[in-house]
Amino acid sequence: MIVATGSAPSLDIVGNLAQGIQDTPGLAQDNVMSVWDVLEDRRPIGHRVLVVDDGEGGWKGIGLALQLDADGHDVEYVTPLPYAGAKLGPFSADLAVRRIHLSHIATHPFASVTRIDGATVTLSEQGHANTVADVDTVILAGWHRPVTDLYVALKGRGVTVERIGDAIASRTMLEAIHEGERAARRVTSNT
Ligand SMILES: Cc1cc2nc3c(=O)[nH]c(=O)nc-3n(C[C@H](O)[C@H](O)[C@H](O)COP(=O)(O)OP(=O)(O)OC[C@H]3O[C@@H](n4cnc5c(N)ncnc54)[C@H](O)[C@@H]3O)c2cc1C
Repeated sequence: MIVATGSAPSLDIVGNLAQGIQDTPGLAQDNVMSVWDVLEDRRPIGHRVLVVDDGEGGWKGIGLALQLDADGHDVEYVTPLPYAGAKLGPFSADLAVRRIHLSHIATHPFASVTRIDGATVTLSEQGHANTVADVDTVILAGWHRPVTDLYVALKGRGVTVERIGDAIASRTMLEAIHEGERAARRVTSNT
C-alpha cells in the first residue's frame, strides 16, 4: 500500500531549527496564521503583514506576498536566504525576483523570526537583533510537517505500506511525482 497524505502547517517554524533557533515565543498569538488559513479565508488579514519564509523559499511565501501587495496590503518578507526567490528554479526566479523588486514589498534577507510579542516581531537579521513594529498579521509560509497518522496506523496493524511525497517530508510536487511513479512501478513489478 502507498500512503500519500501530504504535509500540513504546524505551530512552529520548522526552518528555524536549521538556524539554531529551537523555540519561537508568540507563535500561538491570534495574529499569527498559516498560508492555509489565508487560502481558506479562515481569518481576516490586517493591513500590515509580515510573511515569514523559513528557508523553504518556494512560491508559497513569494506568491502570497506578491498577491497581498497587489491587494493593497503593506507587506514585508522575511527569509534566511540571501534574497527572496533564491530557491526558485532559475526560470521562475527571473520572473519572481523582478516582480518583487517592482512591488512595494520590503524584504529582510538573511533573517529569521525569533519572537513575536503582540504587534512587534523580533528578527535575527544578518547576525543582529532587529524589530519590525506595528505588524497586524504574521503569516508563516515555510516548511510544513508530514501528515503521518494513517501511515503509522497501517504499519501498526502490520500492513505493508510505504510513504511518498510530502508524507515523508514537506518538499515540492517534483519529489511527490517522482516518488509516486517509483512506488507505482514497484507495485506493478511485484504483481
Ligand atoms: C501554498 C502552497 C504552494 C505550493 N507551491 C508549489 C509550487 O509552486 N511548486 C511545487 O513544486 N510545489 C509547491 N508546493 C508544494 C506541493 O504542493 C507539495 O509538495 C505537493 O502537493 C506534495 O504532494 P503530495 O501528494 O505528497 O501531498 P498533497 O498534495 O498535500 O496531497 C495529500 C492529500 O492527502 C489527503 N489526506 C491527508 N490525510 C488523509 C487521510 N488520512 N485519508 C485520506 N486522505 C488524506 C490530503 O487532504 C491531501 O489531499 C506548494 C505547497 C503549498 C502549501
